[in-house]
Amino acid sequence: MRYSRYLLPTLKDAPSDAEIVSHRLMIRAGMIRKVASGIYNLLPLGLRVIRKVERIVREEMDRAGAQEVLLSFVLPSELWKESGRWDEYGKELLRFRDRHKREFCLGPTHEEAITDLVRREVRSYRELPKNLYQIQAKFRDEIRPRFGLMRGREFIMKDAYSFHASDECAEREYENMYRTYSRIFERCGLNFRAVEAETGPIGGKFSHEFMVLADTGEDSIATCRRCTYAANIERAETRRPHPGKREGVKKDTGIKEVSTPGMKTVEEVSSFLGVEPSRLIKTLIYSTDRGTVAVLVRGDHELNDAKLKRALDVKDLTLADEQTIRDVTGAPVGFAGPVGLKIPIYADYSVLEIEDGVTGGNRLDTHIMGVQPERDFRAQYLDIRKVVEGDMCPRCEGRVEIHRGIEVGHIFKLGTKYSESMGATFLDSDGREKPMIMGCYGIGIGRTAAAAIEQNHDASGIIWPPPLAPFEVELIPINIRDKETERVSMDIYRALTDAGIEVLIDDRDERAGVKFKDADLIGIPVRITVSNRTIASGSVEMKRRGEERKWLVKIEDTVREVRSILNRTP
Ligand code: ATP
Ligand code: MG
Repeated sequence: MRYSRYLLPTLKDAPSDAEIVSHRLMIRAGMIRKVASGIYNLLPLGLRVIRKVERIVREEMDRAGAQEVLLSFVLPSELWKESGRWDEYGKELLRFRDRHKREFCLGPTHEEAITDLVRREVRSYRELPKNLYQIQAKFRDEIRPRFGLMRGREFIMKDAYSFHASDECAEREYENMYRTYSRIFERCGLNFRAVEAETGPIGGKFSHEFMVLADTGEDSIATCRRCTYAANIERAETRRPHPGKREGVKKDTGIKEVSTPGMKTVEEVSSFLGVEPSRLIKTLIYSTDRGTVAVLVRGDHELNDAKLKRALDVKDLTLADEQTIRDVTGAPVGFAGPVGLKIPIYADYSVLEIEDGVTGGNRLDTHIMGVQPERDFRAQYLDIRKVVEGDMCPRCEGRVEIHRGIEVGHIFKLGTKYSESMGATFLDSDGREKPMIMGCYGIGIGRTAAAAIEQNHDASGIIWPPPLAPFEVELIPINIRDKETERVSMDIYRALTDAGIEVLIDDRDERAGVKFKDADLIGIPVRITVSNRTIASGSVEMKRRGEERKWLVKIEDTVREVRSILNRTP
């Protein structure tokens, strides 16, 4: 491709609403332009990257035995009413009416549409399993679209849905997709982890998110330094303390009330009383659909609401209001404690390790010291806190690290949620009609491209992992008006192109500095410079994006050198 003819409008500065680096660089590198909030046009360079991701995804999905379909993007409301999601989905679902006043929505995801297709076409266990996928625009009217392609309203997703006659078959396909996703993100050249994810109301252990590691990620993940354990922080488990760890507790030390005027927070109380936050027992009062409960965690820990909700098996969970707190503790907010409390008490396991604790006194400006769980109050102990760096791994003797991650993919065993509500049944070998077991598997195509930039850039611009780069080589003739430079450059351009290598030649009549700056910004892996000076020694100058080293290569060896840099066989 000739730069002079290419629509590649690079910019010095990014607009002020571009907060994260991938968003800024995609705009500055002329890959995307904003149309409306969360809606973007893809320019040629941006589309090339999207196509690279799509191609890897397609090849691996096909190889895994899935079949590509393309479902309609406009979906009739009837299907969504059958599944119950027309009412459940909320404002992210963009609804509208046609000229006949019929209701439709733009597809944010396609469980209903695919279930409808399959229930009409598949009748017998002999036709199962099936795994159908598509690569298509989705629309979700996100409340806060931001970060460019990372969280758009209109965005491209690969979504796949599988249908099975048995749980075992669905679980085998889940494993198949797990391996397929791992290959996809490996082939993209990304540093990623597959992490155990929240399963929500459906439950079960079959939900993994594929996270690209990057400091700007919206998710936190816990990984073990020793084994392969990795989980979304929402789900990450902590280890139960060994039973008997509290032997040797001194039975004689009693509890003692202390005056703590105006001291409510962990920081205030711990510095006022001169005790470590880890000896404080934080008491939170929650309202749930099963009544008011007290929840305890150590002062240096944080509660994990998702885990708490699951452990208590409740639907609603909110911090109690001031009046409720007064009613159950007899004190204003900030002085609740478990001693003498008459409501059910749930405590994190780590509370059990406290031997000489401090809690609220259930009285204004009062705390109690010398508190011992089990002796001074009874609670039910659960795993309900957030994992922190350095915790013991729940699976081995290693320690846990916390990383930031970007969710680029999600695989999920759905079970019969949609097949039951929508009547997607099949006749089994025993002649009985049964609902199909389903799985669903998504990848954010644009988000994967954005995540690649988050993970691979420097102050000058993007450093594309070669598999996702829009071109493989950028060829820079230093002075295009020089006839000899132009001739040699065009010869090299043709030789590389004939060898199947994707080349962008910067044939603009621009200063070298401008060309190098743009080259660094758009981040093509190999840069080849041709000038009078290099030609004089029968060579070109090579450089890899992201490395300082430059070296000369004989003109006739250019193709071979590029192949070896890109690990390509002729
Ligand atoms: P998130 O928690 O980030 O909102 P999600 O759980 O709603 O994502 P899924 O329904 O699992 O997402 O969608 C599958 C994939 O689609 C995600 O893993 C992500 O890569 C991508 N995706 C989801 N929402 C967006 C969006 N608004 N913009 C770009 N990609 C998205
Ligand atoms: Mg998800």
